Amino acid sequence: MQNFEAQLEKYAQLAIKVGVNLQPSQLLVVNAPVMAAYFVRTLVKEAYKAGAGNVHVEWHDEEITHTKLSIAPFEALTQYPLWKAKGYEEMAEAGAAVMTISIPNPDLLRDIPGERIAAANKANAVAMEGFKKYTQTGKISWTTICIPGEEWAAKIFPYASAEEGMTLLWENIFNIVRASAEDPVAAWQQHLSNVRDKLSLLNSKRYKKLFFKSAGTDLSMALPDKHLWVGGGIHNEKGTYFVPNLPTEEVFTMPLKHSLEGVVTSTKPLNYGGNVIENFTLTFKEGRIVEFTAEKGYDTLKRLIETDEGAHYIGEVALVPHDSPISNTNLVFFNTLFDENASCHLAIGAAYPLSIEGGSAMGKEELEQQGANTSLVHVDFMIGSQNMEISAETAEGNIEIIFSKGNWA
Ligand code: ZN
Ligand code: ZN
Repeated sequence: MQNFEAQLEKYAQLAIKVGVNLQPSQLLVVNAPVMAAYFVRTLVKEAYKAGAGNVHVEWHDEEITHTKLSIAPFEALTQYPLWKAKGYEEMAEAGAAVMTISIPNPDLLRDIPGERIAAANKANAVAMEGFKKYTQTGKISWTTICIPGEEWAAKIFPYASAEEGMTLLWENIFNIVRASAEDPVAAWQQHLSNVRDKLSLLNSKRYKKLFFKSAGTDLSMALPDKHLWVGGGIHNEKGTYFVPNLPTEEVFTMPLKHSLEGVVTSTKPLNYGGNVIENFTLTFKEGRIVEFTAEKGYDTLKRLIETDEGAHYIGEVALVPHDSPISNTNLVFFNTLFDENASCHLAIGAAYPLSIEGGSAMGKEELEQQGANTSLVHVDFMIGSQNMEISAETAEGNIEIIFSKGNWA
């Protein structure tokens, strides 16, 4: 591995220059756990070097979060500091870029009763609703990146010591986010330009139907007339091109809600709310999941599908080549940001409004009328492998092969 400090700097530069694409004199807001302090110090330095007008760091601590969720009075979980929510809205209104540093800890809340987590999540969601509009509609630049933590590393590398695990995870993250490339920013520009080429090709094709075939999978779906393939980055209100997720490898759109027919088999374990679902199949009729099996985690899968009516349908179809940086690690990260970018996937639940023309301005009913699924949940699960064959039907009824042996044809 190159000098660790140098790689850390490169990762920070990527988050600033590619992630939020910080503009001269702009305010940068960083939301980070105290355990990430060593990285955040580097990040803040790089932000000022890149011309930040000001940098504000908002700290939190997972142990305090855990303590509060375990033993605070229930009443306290239903409260969220309004000055904080207002502060975020104020900073967004002033055109700030917002960066979230996450240290995933898949099992952190395992021992907390579901209703306590739900109460805290709800209080947060309600208070932050105003601010969320700025990010969800792409009004401001925002990005999320992950850094290793010991618990996360132990989950991925159960046989390594704590120190080895951290080193292995950092090495993998640096490779995956292209921070180990000689010129990481240039490597990203190349990658994003490849993604944009794929998007314009797919969007110009206006495919009517997609067919997925591999071991255990034989699925067909139609795409809404106004579907849009999206991926890579987004332009914010001021026209700045930013990348919400580092890494990102997928291009995705939404299927026509009632069109899925056939069966899919998962190719990677799915971590849902701290429980793992493995080797599962879903059978679709007129878009609805009518049957499902799971070798492990059947009850968790059942709970997920029974969340609401929309959780019986699919809201996203995403294409990721089998030969890509995350997939090539052959690791399961137990974190959606990484796992969904390793494999072709579908999502149980809501469609992203931006994957249909004009969708961001549509309400729930209008989205459903356009054939988009709505639900409280959106959970990606992986179906890609080196055997995945995907073909598509054009408007004229011709069949074209788009994926062969797991990669773009
Ligand atoms: Zn996705
Ligand atoms: Zn998704």
